Amino acid sequence: MFIDTHAHIHQHNPNEVPGIIERAVQKNVGAILTAGTTVADSREAIELAKRQTRVFAGIGIHPTEITNPISEDQLSQLEGLATAPQVVVMSEIGIDHQGTSPDKDWQEESFYAQIKIAREHKLPLIFHIREQDDDYDAHSARDAALSILKETGAGDMGGSAHYFQGRWSFAEKLLDLGFNISFAKTLTRITDLEETAKKTPTSRLLLETDAYPQTFKKNRAKWTEPRDISLVSEKLAALRNVTTEYVCRTTTENTLAMLGARGSSIKKLLTQHNPE
Ligand SMILES: [Zn+2]
Repeated sequence: MFIDTHAHIHQHNPNEVPGIIERAVQKNVGAILTAGTTVADSREAIELAKRQTRVFAGIGIHPTEITNPISEDQLSQLEGLATAPQVVVMSEIGIDHQGTSPDKDWQEESFYAQIKIAREHKLPLIFHIREQDDDYDAHSARDAALSILKETGAGDMGGSAHYFQGRWSFAEKLLDLGFNISFAKTLTRITDLEETAKKTPTSRLLLETDAYPQTFKKNRAKWTEPRDISLVSEKLAALRNVTTEYVCRTTTENTLAMLGARGSSIKKLLTQHNPE
């Protein structure tokens, strides 16, 4: 079965969550990593993971939520959450240079500090990088993120560039550092991503949806959900000239390899439901 390596399904109305998971399972998605975006939201992600066997949690403060310098109190709360058995990744953290995003120094300090927690707790990093107003040539967010990832040796923990939106030259740098490249539904419409989708080694590809409550879409049926992993995998299979079964098997293996010991319960869950 597939693993959705990045979503925020704990942010949905609790009544909706069982249906979202059921629809995911119907599309062969066996596990969902739901990522926190603040300390309180990370706690919610863990709470959902306690209630739902197919859900696992990420903890972290999203760069757009760094509205003040990260505090000792926030860091010690994250440290506490990192020991919960439901937590499998440090997510969502990163660098965001959109026009409205918070102070860049605060974001960088916070990225450093959260990478340190990830190291102490052996958590892979799932990070976000967004340029100013989606201007690819701006590259300041990519530069800042890369230099921090390099300087901290973060590749040791492994992880992925979530919702990958860059070009191959950037993907290569992340791959060299030891990270995976994670594709979302944008792969089905942004042709600039196809080169990276074709050239990334099979062992370094991951899938995700980044599903969250898309209240700006009036038609509820059009909200992205973990079930849409099937659309991403079909596109990836077509681009690489392989079967979706192959994409499923390899991306799930890659996810489990990235998670290491932290992923043992996901491994158990997927083997139980999908015996070889
Ligand atoms: Zn996200």
